This record gives sequence, C-alpha cells and structure tokens, in this order.
Amino acid sequence: MYACTRQCPVQAITGEVKKTHVIDVDKCIKCGSCYEVCRFGAILKE
Ligand code: SF4
Repeated sequence: MYACTRQCPVQAITGEVKKTHVIDVDKCIKCGSCYEVCRFGAILKE
C-alpha cells in the first residue's frame, strides 16, 4: 500500500504497486490527504 491509499479515510484509492492508481470520485470526499502525502505530485487539487 502506498502513502496515499493509507491516508485515504474512505478507501477511494485503488491500484497495483508501480501502476497508475485511480481515485473513485464517487467515494472521494476531497479531504486532500492523498495530495499531502504524494511524493510524485500525482494529484491535482481543484
Ligand atoms: S482527497 Fe479523496 S482520494 Fe484523496 S485521501 Fe481524501 S477522500 Fe481519499
């Protein structure tokens, strides 16, 4: 599990190691936790 998937309070992030992860926008509450921990800047804040 990556930092972002651990941080997500609603388990909205899924994906295999070293592959692109996906955020389920229906589950995501836009808390920003995954954005804070992502080392790669993969997540864009709106
Ligand atoms: S912003 Fe969305 S996907 Fe990211 S940790 Fe929060 S609920 Fe999960």
